[in-house]
Amino acid sequence: MKNGTKHSKESRLKNSLAHLGKRPPNYKETGVGYTSLHQWVAYHKPKSPFCERCGKITTKLDASSINHTYERDISKWRWLCRPCHGKEDKESGIRKHNIICKRGHKLEGVNLWLNNRGDRVCKECKSIRAKNNYRKDTFKVKERVKAYRLKIRSTIKR
Ligand SMILES: [Zn+2]
Ligand SMILES: [Zn+2]
Repeated sequence: MKNGTKHSKESRLKNSLAHLGKRPPNYKETGVGYTSLHQWVAYHKPKSPFCERCGKITTKLDASSINHTYERDISKWRWLCRPCHGKEDKESGIRKHNIICKRGHKLEGVNLWLNNRGDRVCKECKSIRAKNNYRKDTFKVKERVKAYRLKIRSTIKR
């Protein structure tokens, strides 16, 4: 007898009803977590006298989640003035969709490079990293370039 489907449907319904029963009394359908978490942060994180992004001294500061992770950890939050909070939200949105890189370069056209794994890589950042590496260890880079050229030559010959 195939009664598995019926049974699982029933148990699923039971489970969802049990889940409903476990809801805390102050549970709200809309905006759950967001407001209370902000209140929690505002209560636990000492208020900064200035914006932690631009340094402007103001009392109009919002608690902003760094990287939009919304964790219950005050070190993952900072105080931002209204304009900075707005900018941060906008930037995190476009960063999520890979429109700009970590440093704020536009990931499009000639600046966009897709690596072997299919990751969207910022060419400007790549060259910054390369320059830094070069400065750090010129010899190693030269050796690496030499090895790379040799490798290219050997593949061409084949
Ligand atoms: Zn600011
Ligand atoms: Zn970049």
